[in-house]
Amino acid sequence: MSTEATFEDLVDALERPGCAVCRLAARRADRMLGSYIYEHVNDVELRARIRAARGFCETHAGHLLAKLDALAVAITYRDILNTLVEELDGRLREGALQGGMLARLRPRRRGGPLAAAARCPVCEAEAQAAGRALDVLALHAESAAVEAALRGAAPLCLPHARIALSRGRPSAALREHQRRGWSALRDRLLEFIRKSDHNHRWDKLTDAERAAIVGGVRAVTGARARPGDDVRAETRKLRRGGTNAVRANRRRRGSRPPGG
Ligand SMILES: [Zn+2]
Ligand SMILES: [Zn+2]
Repeated sequence: MSTEATFEDLVDALERPGCAVCRLAARRADRMLGSYIYEHVNDVELRARIRAARGFCETHAGHLLAKLDALAVAITYRDILNTLVEELDGRLREGALQGGMLARLRPRRRGGPLAAAARCPVCEAEAQAAGRALDVLALHAESAAVEAALRGAAPLCLPHARIALSRGRPSAALREHQRRGWSALRDRLLEFIRKSDHNHRWDKLTDAERAAIVGGVRAVTGARARPGDDVRAETRKLRRGGTNAVRANRRRRGSRPPGG
C-alpha cells in the first residue's frame, strides 16, 4: 500500500474542508487500520508491534471498533490480554518471543510493570504521514499551484501550523493564509455570539456561522478522524489513476475494490 502524500494529494486536500495535513494523516491512519483488518490481522510482525504497544491508543482503538469487524478486534485484544495475564503470572520468559524483529519489540521493564514498549502503530503512521505532508508543503509553499490552493483552503490546525511555521524559512503565503483563516473563524464566532443575544434572536445564522462552531474547535485541536468525504475523494483519485493509485493497484492486482 502506498503511504506517501504526493504534491497532487496535498493540493487536493487543500481544496477540501478542514486542515489538509490532518486529512492526509487521518487518511493514512484509516487505511492502515483497514489494511490491518482485511489483510494483516495475521501479520506476525505487525501483531508483535501492536502487542508491544499494548494495542492501539484510545483514539485508534475507537476507530478500530468503528470498523465493526468484531473478529479482528477479538483476535487482537485476546492476544494483548493474554500477554498481560502472562506478565502478571511472571510467565513471560526470555525467549518466549523469538526472532530479530520480535526480540527488539520484547516489552522492556523500564517503564515499570505492564508498561508498553512501543507507541501505538497507527499513531506512528499518522505522524509519519503528517510529517511527509508538511515536507511537501514546505517544499512547494512558494509554488503557484499551492499558493492558489491556499487561497481557498481552510487554515491548518494549530499543531500543524506550529510545525509548518517553525520549519526553516516559513513561507509568507502560509503565515498570511493562517492569519486570514483564523480571523474569519473568529469573526464568524463573534457573529454567532451576537445573534445568540435575546435582542437578535430573529437574525438568521448563515451556514458558515453554524459551521464555525465545530470548525473553530478543530482549527485549534486538529482532527484525527478521517473526514466523511475523504473515501469518496480517494476513490475518485484511484479511478483517475493517480501515482499512488497505480502503485497500490499494482500491489493489489485488483483483488479488492479501491478505497477500502
Ligand atoms: Zn492538522
Ligand atoms: Zn494511536
